[in-house]
Amino acid sequence: LLARGKDVCKRNGLLILSVLSVTVGCLLGFFLRTQRLSPQEISYFQFPGELLMRMLKMLILPLVVSSLISSLASLDAKTSSRLGILTVAYYLWTTFVAVVVGIIMVSIIHPGGAAQKEETEQSGKPVMSSADALLDLIRNMFPANLVEATFKQYRTKTTPVVKFPKVASEKGSSRQILIYGVQEENGSHIQNFALDLTPPPEVIYKSEPGTSDGMNVLGIVMFSATMGIMLGRMGDSGAPLVSFCQCLNESVMKIVAVAVWYFPFGIVFLIAGKILEMDDPTAVGKKLGFYAVTVVCGLVVHGLFILPLLYFFITKKNPVVFIRGVLQALLIALATSSSSATLPITFKCLLENNHIDRRIARFVLPVGATINMDGTALYEAVAAIFIAQVNNYELDFGQIVTISITATAASIGAAGIPQAGLVTMVIVLTSVGLPTDDITLIIAVDWALDRFRTMINVLGDALAAGIMAHVCRKDFAQDSGTEKLQLCET
Ligand code: ASP
Repeated sequence: LLARGKDVCKRNGLLILSVLSVTVGCLLGFFLRTQRLSPQEISYFQFPGELLMRMLKMLILPLVVSSLISSLASLDAKTSSRLGILTVAYYLWTTFVAVVVGIIMVSIIHPGGAAQKEETEQSGKPVMSSADALLDLIRNMFPANLVEATFKQYRTKTTPVVKFPKVASEKGSSRQILIYGVQEENGSHIQNFALDLTPPPEVIYKSEPGTSDGMNVLGIVMFSATMGIMLGRMGDSGAPLVSFCQCLNESVMKIVAVAVWYFPFGIVFLIAGKILEMDDPTAVGKKLGFYAVTVVCGLVVHGLFILPLLYFFITKKNPVVFIRGVLQALLIALATSSSSATLPITFKCLLENNHIDRRIARFVLPVGATINMDGTALYEAVAAIFIAQVNNYELDFGQIVTISITATAASIGAAGIPQAGLVTMVIVLTSVGLPTDDITLIIAVDWALDRFRTMINVLGDALAAGIMAHVCRKDFAQDSGTEKLQLCET
């Protein structure tokens, strides 16, 4: 028995360490909260976790570029287009199913209170219109400068402009100007002022294309995928570049294999540091608590029932065994809240534990980490309907359909980074005229929900790779002898 136990520990050492580190991180975080550390001390304490994030982020760019180019270049045109179409269709379909699950859950649990039929005035001012958000998505697909795309993405900037109506120029005409302050709850100073004019001034929102910090992964995926397809068609003349990308891919994976031993240590500090940073974990309102429960229930139904059942029906294999193989990636997703940062570990788990064809993993995973976010889509739909319920705003069937379509699009547009879904929520809210300011309602619990939805995002990508490996097995069996460059295959 001892020998068996030793064997299990040896084979699953890293996984056991990762589970332990999540537990230790939570306990340590809650214990240290009682010690009232200063912000400076907290930031020093978070340093090992920051290092973990840096290591993972460092690997994203070489991994996405090298994996997409080498996978697509090594497939023939027929196989790559079949894999591409099937993968994208599968991703869209499962994301839409996730949205439907979210809508059903939020309609059953009704976390925002009972809706009344009365009309309520919508107070929200659009921060960014759905059209602008859609244009940003398309702009990001076609970056004007590839180097810039590695650290910036396109994001429309919306600024309010106050327009004063013309005053009648007749003699004796007058208007009243009133200046008033907005008193903050915690202070008495005038924080803002407004002019009350007759006729009143009009506030219009001006949108201009702009950029924001963060890697434009979508643009890099688009470029690398196109480059891979073209190199594949070039035949022998493209071989040196394909060979380079294969070597790059292998070497990145070797770096991952070494770095993973640091991760359990980093996870402890990442999770404990986040718990230390939180305002007051117990001060969550009742409605907000129900909202969080609704999102988690939806994620559980989608991630633990629907996706595994789909995997089972398509592949006839045991989904529990498959999920056990990617457990370490799920824990990293929980610790980092980033599906892009988890990408190197998802690769490692799929190749080493689940023995997925590396050409499939190289294509399905980077594309999935960019466009397939079932957890995010589900959460966006639940959050939008929750905000409608809180505002006593009755949504009709057409608006529910609009929410399901925009939540799917918003999840595609969200980057695989922490709380990106919160930003793209604006698309969903504006599409049905809900107040975008109410995003602040759900911010208090978003840091926690983000971790769970990222786990489901990563699980969705991993199961997709398993399903594609099964569906396309014949293509790849035929193709395996003809993989053009084997130079760096281990
Ligand atoms: N954090 C999520 C991810 O990386 C995106 C989001 O929903 O905010 O997959």
